[in-house]
Amino acid sequence: MDISYILNELGEDRSQYFNAVVPPIIQTSNFAFNSFADLRSAYRDEMSTYVYSRGINPTVDILRRKLAALDGAEDALVFNSGASAIYCAVMANVRSGDHIVSVQRPYIWAARLFDNVLPRFGVLTTYVDGTLVENIEKALRPETRIIYLESPNTLTYELQDLAAVAELARARGILTIIDNSYCTPLYQKPHALGIDLSLQSATKYIGGHSDTLAGVLTGPKALLKKIFDEQLLNTGSHIPPFDAWLLLRGLRTLPMRLERVSQTTRQVVKYLKQHPKIERVLYPFDEDFPQRELARQQMNGAGGLLTILLKADSHAQIERFTFALHCFLVAVSWGGHESLILPQAGGMDPADFDPAVERHRLARLYIGLEDADYLIRDLEQALEVL
Ligand SMILES: *Cc1c(COP(=O)(O)O)cnc(C)c1O
Repeated sequence: MDISYILNELGEDRSQYFNAVVPPIIQTSNFAFNSFADLRSAYRDEMSTYVYSRGINPTVDILRRKLAALDGAEDALVFNSGASAIYCAVMANVRSGDHIVSVQRPYIWAARLFDNVLPRFGVLTTYVDGTLVENIEKALRPETRIIYLESPNTLTYELQDLAAVAELARARGILTIIDNSYCTPLYQKPHALGIDLSLQSATKYIGGHSDTLAGVLTGPKALLKKIFDEQLLNTGSHIPPFDAWLLLRGLRTLPMRLERVSQTTRQVVKYLKQHPKIERVLYPFDEDFPQRELARQQMNGAGGLLTILLKADSHAQIERFTFALHCFLVAVSWGGHESLILPQAGGMDPADFDPAVERHRLARLYIGLEDADYLIRDLEQALEVL
């Protein structure tokens, strides 16, 4: 299916809404029935019938069709955040006594689910360095139920060989879940490589304007139905119709925004790599990136995140550099129109800062939609301060 068709036509039936070019926001909590027979059949399958907007809703359904097609998946669910997509996908698939193998340092709220919530219900997680498939294989136990992946991650960009992990998991009946937020389906299609469930924070590139929170989960209908019935409905994690509408709007320009961001990022990486105050630049498509070959093999592109290792001796020096920037906001998240910076030191007590620990000197940059020259000039003057 052409991406242009998916983004401009699929799931839209304009004759249903006055030939309006843009789909309506169906802002309703519930839907009325004309017969008991209709009501009974609706109760049996709330994932494909309009009953109540905690389940599905027509505006959300247009989005589901498009997101499933983009991922080459049977179906898609949309949540009110990426974190709730993670929570529901995992919770619906474990029971007491089960074991999870996860890549080390996954997204923080995945880690908190594994570390703080699941152990109370008898589900334990082993973290491994996922850059080697053998590490994942060695951590498997008879009771391993889920392999949780994030490729690349969003600070140091370690990848997993998705086809190899999928093969390993399939042979043992283990469910694979990937956080694909970094790539979006445009730059990586996990289902084509054999991964069962793919999720992403739609707050990032799909929303694209830093004005809404959402999460997407794609995969086989039967798996999603279980997650929908057991978790999405129970936790009330549905996306509201207006937010779904904002994501539909974001999708129209997703390919252009990603292309722009990735082009600008390559220019910024090139500039930063030759700068004497920067020890190293981490970026998955860079020729010096350790897993560049795997990145080129399983990804179609690299987005707007990159991480710099600063030559700095003190916490104060990193803070001075950070706030000398005028065009980069200091903020979490990414994927919007605005460029951002998030130094590791920012979240640390200055007394704990140790320049000998490389991680303390890392700063993640997100490159937004601004011009490359504009951003590079800003970095230039701030690095002088450093
Ligand atoms: C932001 C993010 C999430 C969580 O998404 P929210 O929409 O903020 O809940 C999950 N994974 C990654 C990699 C993220 O960057």
